Amino acid sequence: MTRFDYDDSDVVVIVGSGAGGGTLAHELCRRGFKTVVLEAGPHLTGEDYHNDEWAAFGQMAWTDPRTTSGSWAIADDFPNLPAWIVKAVGGTTTHWAGACPRFKSHEFAARTTYGDIEGADLLDWPITLSELEPYYDQAEIKMGVTHRHGRPPLPANNNYKVFANGADKLGYRDYSTGPYATNAEPYDGRPASIQDGFNFQGDKHGSKWSTLVAELPKAEATGNLDLRPDSQAVQILHGPDGRATGVLYVDRNGTLRRQRAAVVSVAGNSIETARLLLLSASTRFPDGMANSSGQVGRNYMRHTTGTVWGQFDKPVRMYRGETMAGVIADESRLDTGRGFVGGYYMQTIALGPAFFAKFVAPGSWGPKLAEIVDGYLNTAGMWIVGEDMPQGTNRITLSDTVDEHGIPVANVHFDDHPNDVAMRRHGQQQGAAVYKAVGAHRTIETPPYPSTHNLGTCRMSQRPGDGVVDRFGRAHDVPNLFVTDGSVFTTGAAANPTLTIVALATRQADFIASDFRTGRN
Ligand SMILES: Cc1cc2nc3c(=O)[nH]c(=O)nc-3n(C[C@H](O)[C@H](O)[C@H](O)COP(=O)(O)OP(=O)(O)OC[C@H]3O[C@@H](n4cnc5c(N)ncnc54)[C@H](O)[C@@H]3O)c2cc1C
Repeated sequence: MTRFDYDDSDVVVIVGSGAGGGTLAHELCRRGFKTVVLEAGPHLTGEDYHNDEWAAFGQMAWTDPRTTSGSWAIADDFPNLPAWIVKAVGGTTTHWAGACPRFKSHEFAARTTYGDIEGADLLDWPITLSELEPYYDQAEIKMGVTHRHGRPPLPANNNYKVFANGADKLGYRDYSTGPYATNAEPYDGRPASIQDGFNFQGDKHGSKWSTLVAELPKAEATGNLDLRPDSQAVQILHGPDGRATGVLYVDRNGTLRRQRAAVVSVAGNSIETARLLLLSASTRFPDGMANSSGQVGRNYMRHTTGTVWGQFDKPVRMYRGETMAGVIADESRLDTGRGFVGGYYMQTIALGPAFFAKFVAPGSWGPKLAEIVDGYLNTAGMWIVGEDMPQGTNRITLSDTVDEHGIPVANVHFDDHPNDVAMRRHGQQQGAAVYKAVGAHRTIETPPYPSTHNLGTCRMSQRPGDGVVDRFGRAHDVPNLFVTDGSVFTTGAAANPTLTIVALATRQADFIASDFRTGRN
C-alpha cells in the first residue's frame, strides 16, 4: 500500500472517491502523478454489502445530519435527508443504477436555446458537445456502457417488457434496455450481471461499473495512489498568494491531519463540495474559498423527478433482473411546445418491498397504503428524470447544526421552479398513460425521493463573475484548485449525470497533466 508523507508538497490531493474523484485519481495515477485520495467513508467491498435494502442503506449512505429548507416536498417528507448519496470508498457509484445517456448539443446552451425564463438563472456552458464527445467515448469504453462501442444490451426483464409494450402502444419509438454501465457479458475483468436486482445495494459481484471496482484498483496498481478511507476533509489551506497548499482532515482516530499538496481537487458531490469551500473561508477568502463571485453553493439542482407505478391484474415481479434497465427517450427531445422547456427521460425502476412501502406514498398510512403495498407483486415502476431550472436562491449554506466534529453541516434550500412542476406533471401523466395502455387498473404517482442527482453549486462559467470554475473545472480564483464532480454543471440537462461527470473528470486530468508539463501550474 502506497503512503506519501504528510509534508510531501508534490502530491495531488483529491477529496472524495466517487464518480469524479475516483476517475480523476485513476487518470492522474496512470500518468505518474502522486495522488492522495481522502475519503470520508469506510472502505467497504462486495463481501461487506448487505443484500437487504435498509441494512445496505444504513451501511453505505451519508446519514450524518443535514438540514433542509424551502417549499420542496422533501422538506416535509424527509427533513433530515435532503439527498441520498454514499459515504464510502467509491462514493455514490456504489449505490447508482448505471443509466448513461449523454447530454444533447442544445443542453450545453440552455440560456441561448430556452431564452429568458423568469426566475431561472440559466447560463450557457463554456464548452460544447463536440468538445466533450471524445471524452464521452472514453468514459463509455471505460465504464463498459451497454449499447455503445459494441457492448451488448442487458436482457429485458418483466418490468421492462410492461414499460416497452406501453411505450409502443403510446407511439413512442426511442426505447430500449440501455445505455447502462452494467455488464451484460464479462468485460474489463468484471463479470456479467447475475440479474439479482441488488444494484442500489452495492452490487456484490462487481458487474456494475463503480470507481470502487474499476478506477481505484487500477489507480492502486500504478503504485501512485495513497487512498485514505475514514478521512474527512474539513478545510482547504492556502498560502499568502492564495494558491491551495494542502488540506486539513480528520482521520479515522479523530486526529486532525494536514496533507500538503501541489494541486487540490474537490469531488465531494455537490452538497459537500460547496460545504467544504464555504468552511475554507479565511481572511483572504472571507466568503469561502473560490467564492469571489458569491456563486459557491448557488444554483443547486437535483433534476425534476417523480415516480409512476402501474398495478396490474397479473404479477410483474419488478424486482427480478436489473433494478433499472429501461429507458424511453422520446420526451428528452427539444420541444418547448409542451408547456415547459427542457426534456425528460422515463426509466424503469424497481424497489424491494421495504423501500416500496416507505417511499410509494410518503405520509399516507392505514388502508390506503396497505392496499397499494398489497399490490406489490403486480406492480411495474418507472422514474421520471428531467432538466430542472437553476435558481440562484436554491442553495447550499452552512447550517447552525453541527456534525460529530462540531463543524457546521450543510443546509439544502430548494424551491421547485414552475417549469419543474409543469414538467413533472407532464411526465407523470405520460407515465400513467404508458401503464394504462397495457391494462394497469391503477397508477400511483410518487413525489421526488431525496436527491440522488446533486448538481450545480460551483458552476462552470466563461466569465469569473458568473460562476466558480472555468471550462476545465479550475477555480477562477485559485489556479491550483479544481472541482471534479457534478457541482460544476452549469445547467442540469435531462440526462442522468454520471457519464458526464466521468467524461469531465477525464478531460480535466488531460488538462492538469498538460498544465504540469508546461510548468504553468
Ligand atoms: C440510488 C441511486 C441511483 C443512481 N442512479 C444513477 C444512474 O442510473 N445514472 C447516473 O448517472 N447517476 C445515478 N445516480 C447518481 C450518481 O451516483 C452520482 O451522480 C455520482 O455518483 C456523483 O459523483 P460525485 O463524484 O459527484 O459524488 P459521489 O459519487 O457521491 O462521491 C463523493 C464522495 O466524496 C466523499 N466526500 C464528501 N465530502 C467529503 C469530505 N469532506 N472529505 C472526504 N470525502 C468526502 C463522499 O463520502 C463520497 O464518497 C444515482 C444515485 C443514487 C443514490
